[in-house]
Amino acid sequence: MKMKVKRVAVICAVILIVALGKSVYAQQGLTKIADNVYSYVDVKNAEPGNSFAANAGIIIGTDGILVVDTLVSAKEAQRFLTDIRKVSSKPIKYVVNTHYHLDHAYGNGVFAKEGGILIGSTADRKNLEQKGTATLKRAGEYGLSEEEMRGTEIVLPSVTFTDRMTVYLGNETVELMYVAPSHTEGSVLVYLPERKILFAGDILFTDFHPYMGEGDLAGWLTALDYILGLDVATIVPGHGPISAKKDVEKMKAYLKLFDRKARDLAAQSCDADYIAAELRKSLPRRSQGEFLIPVNVSEKYLPVKAR
Ligand SMILES: [Zn+2]
Repeated sequence: MKMKVKRVAVICAVILIVALGKSVYAQQGLTKIADNVYSYVDVKNAEPGNSFAANAGIIIGTDGILVVDTLVSAKEAQRFLTDIRKVSSKPIKYVVNTHYHLDHAYGNGVFAKEGGILIGSTADRKNLEQKGTATLKRAGEYGLSEEEMRGTEIVLPSVTFTDRMTVYLGNETVELMYVAPSHTEGSVLVYLPERKILFAGDILFTDFHPYMGEGDLAGWLTALDYILGLDVATIVPGHGPISAKKDVEKMKAYLKLFDRKARDLAAQSCDADYIAAELRKSLPRRSQGEFLIPVNVSEKYLPVKAR
């Protein structure tokens, strides 16, 4: 009997630890990756309302904060801002959009209201301007409810660049770099050379199937090679856990394999589900984003009439 009580106590303790572990994980907020540099990678469940598990981050300089990406909605941006305020009360000075996709840029309005100057590539500002409002109206098609999107507005970057831009954030120097058309036409990198930290946006997906629908494969591989040439130790991907150069190599291999197989299969069939099923047999396992495999096939590899 005593043994039984002990065993029940142990089981209860284990359940409690697991439950606590889960709740701590879900409420983790910002993750410190260096002094004054935080990533926001706590959402593991890739639900639309959770910004499809998109990552973001902040760099805190002596005179203000630079925010990297703003998540999918006003609600998500507000959650991010609330967590930022737990680690710093400094003003939001700059907001960089790594690219124009909804899960990275639709929270812009919340940070613009805080006084942040929005910065993005010239190409993806144009894309946000041309497509943002229509995509926001169709948010339901992406699985986003009216409740989740309430108060969300498209706010365009007020400052753009085509090649390089340096932001001097007091004691922190932040390099914004455009390499080539890649995940989107205007995807950019946010680099802290002194700290060897890179925010890669969706140029890098780690343990998460990438969205390739608008991808320029040749440019994307060029951008990944560019990252491999940087002096960098810590990489925050657009989706997935904190990464390193080995994950960039894996991303290169994934894109090449997907492209080669998808081309072969699309020459034989126009059935996106069939092609996706065949691709799953050879693609490396990634724990999230599998729903993107057939999307990539139909948007990138099938003729328009077959989609
Ligand atoms: Zn994206």
